[in-house]
Amino acid sequence: MVDKIVERVMKTSEKPEFIRNIAIAAHIDHGKTTFSDNLLAGAGMMSKELAGKQCVLDFHEDEKERGITIDTAAVSMVHIVEGKDYLINLLDTPGHIDFSGDVTRAMRAVDGVIVLCDAVESVMPQTETVLRQALKENVKPILFINKVDRLIKELQLKPEQMQERFVKIINHVNILINEIADNEFKNKWNVNVMDGSVCFGSAFHNWAMSVNYMKKKGISFKDIIDAYEKGDHKPLADKAPLHEVVLDAVIHHLPNPVQAQAYRIKKIWHGDLESEDGKSLLSCNSKGPLFFVITKIVVDPQAGELSCGRIFSGTITKGMNVYLNREKKNLRIQQVFIYNGAKREIVERALSGNIVGVAGVKAMPGETITIEPTESFEKITHIFEPVVTKAIEATKASDLPKLIEVLRRVSKEDPTIQIEINEETGEHLMHGMGELHLEVIENRIKTEKGVEVKTSPPIVVYREAITKESSEVEGKSPNKHNKFYFKVEPLSKEFMEAMRKKELPEMRIKKKDKALWEKLQELGMDGKTARKVRDIYKGNMLIDMSRGIVHIGEVIEMIMDMFEDVMSAGPLAREPCINVKVMLMDVKLHEDAIHRGPAQAYPAIREGIRGAMMLANPVIYEPLQTLQFEAPVEYMGEISKLIANKRGQLLDMQQEGEHITVKGKLPVGEMFGMTSDLRSATCGRGNHFLVDQSFEKLPNELQEKIIKQIRQRKGLKIEE
Ligand code: GDP
Repeated sequence: MVDKIVERVMKTSEKPEFIRNIAIAAHIDHGKTTFSDNLLAGAGMMSKELAGKQCVLDFHEDEKERGITIDTAAVSMVHIVEGKDYLINLLDTPGHIDFSGDVTRAMRAVDGVIVLCDAVESVMPQTETVLRQALKENVKPILFINKVDRLIKELQLKPEQMQERFVKIINHVNILINEIADNEFKNKWNVNVMDGSVCFGSAFHNWAMSVNYMKKKGISFKDIIDAYEKGDHKPLADKAPLHEVVLDAVIHHLPNPVQAQAYRIKKIWHGDLESEDGKSLLSCNSKGPLFFVITKIVVDPQAGELSCGRIFSGTITKGMNVYLNREKKNLRIQQVFIYNGAKREIVERALSGNIVGVAGVKAMPGETITIEPTESFEKITHIFEPVVTKAIEATKASDLPKLIEVLRRVSKEDPTIQIEINEETGEHLMHGMGELHLEVIENRIKTEKGVEVKTSPPIVVYREAITKESSEVEGKSPNKHNKFYFKVEPLSKEFMEAMRKKELPEMRIKKKDKALWEKLQELGMDGKTARKVRDIYKGNMLIDMSRGIVHIGEVIEMIMDMFEDVMSAGPLAREPCINVKVMLMDVKLHEDAIHRGPAQAYPAIREGIRGAMMLANPVIYEPLQTLQFEAPVEYMGEISKLIANKRGQLLDMQQEGEHITVKGKLPVGEMFGMTSDLRSATCGRGNHFLVDQSFEKLPNELQEKIIKQIRQRKGLKIEE
């Protein structure tokens, strides 16, 4: 039996039309682990008795408790529809941290996502964040409403009330889809009860339904309620096993890799779509040039570091020599494997459209592996940027190499953490989503990795922005022979919003990129200017407005280097910039190439951009987070007080029965210690989740104080 499954997995992996690559998007505790285990057990990849008890996908705990390692980069299932085998690759481990970034990377590798939503709690902040992350990558959603047993047993809803609740959840999900998805998928990708793209059930009790399935099997809402009233839900699992219903929906409603790549590639790869690479990527051609994108690194005690990801084009074979486009390195693929359940199966080769792992490649997630150097896939970014920093040092100097190794590992594991390693000073910086996030990471470094560390108190990362248009500013090179002229102005509202939502790729624009030009025009830029955009970096934009400069090709890379440099460290306090549009107006260069090299050009460009920003009324922006608080209704007053005390703004308050949901927007700078404040204000019964993040102008009265503080901390002169 087992052998037969292996054969079926291998055979199906050669037929991309019969593959579905999927992930699950859910808020914490909505049942993702239970649901995933159930799917696997049902598909015969794990024993039914263990499903729900054993967490195949729960890597850290599982590994410890049972002393074995399950490689969790992906699990696969074979499912039969109309007599044909389909291979379903399910990605991503369920995260137990609010900030888990695994999902972010998984979305690059998959084409479809099951949005899993607790019927009682409905759509929650993380449901929305993960759905956003999926739609940003053009990944198509279907909906599963979980924990329906609780609606019957605990809330004792009647069939009509149950349906009403479903409709509410479905509408909410569709509103989000229509708000976030690209124009071409608005409405088209709405989930719908009638066509079976919505299923509901109980992962805990192994059953699921869709309207189609109920019709086909003659099951009514009343039958479901009756089963629970009789105290026996088993027949439901027999009549409508969860994996049957859900995997049917996956196969019918989520695209195969060939269908998906036809529209996904233009969103995530910015090379020339008419080139050989482009055509092969668009058609998922296994005979074309190799494109393999790494989305997860797993460390196996025996096999070492394994890189897992998606083949978008070509075929990967054992022994192949490949090129890592970000690291700019050549390497050899030592081993290729595909997934059979949670097990790795070594294969000689794997074709485009598959999720595979390889050994012998040390890389960072997000790496694009090809044969020859070429255009990489877009960088994988989390929608929320890190806004809190802590310095970290090894307590014992002899631990320094170990700490560096551990920090590198952490940044591979969690894309929401950014690490800056300074091997000379030994002071390293960890940038994360919040105080708690960094605390979790720090504890993991100490306990799991066994390195004793000291950390600084958390520091907020601010932004520098400008408030008006500057005049033209000249930057002159030390030898006075090269001159660069810049103007800056704030980006328009539309652009700021698009940058904030990460709708624009962050990159240097080298080739004609029609999809990008269209997007820029959609946001209100004229077609001519759109073609002059050279670089989009951390929410800022560089446009080359110069004309007829003979040597522009030679200096444009240097201009981009320094544009990025200034945008990473602005003129006020060397904090990153945001919403700045930098326009290169004119360039005057020395005739002799040796007098216009980087040593001359860099300072001139930097001075030009910084100078222009200083004339544009620069200000400090601070990060704010919108949080959703959940608590029993009696704590309403305490929560509003907490928000007000932290310079926060109360956005919304909803009561449902004995429970309240409060939304508030708070400056990150005031949020330190909030988890314990909330705990004491609500006797431990309140929770909060991150909904959104933005940067807004720091109140005027705080501007000077904060600038001084930052400059002092960084050892900069207080006045420049
Ligand atoms: P995750 O955080 O999304 O991975 O959620 P888990 O799978 O760990 O589930 C969270 C809790 O909800 C656990 O206590 C599960 O037993 C429970 N749970 C999951 N699915 C169901 C369900 O369908 N019905 C009920 N009543 N509980 C469920």
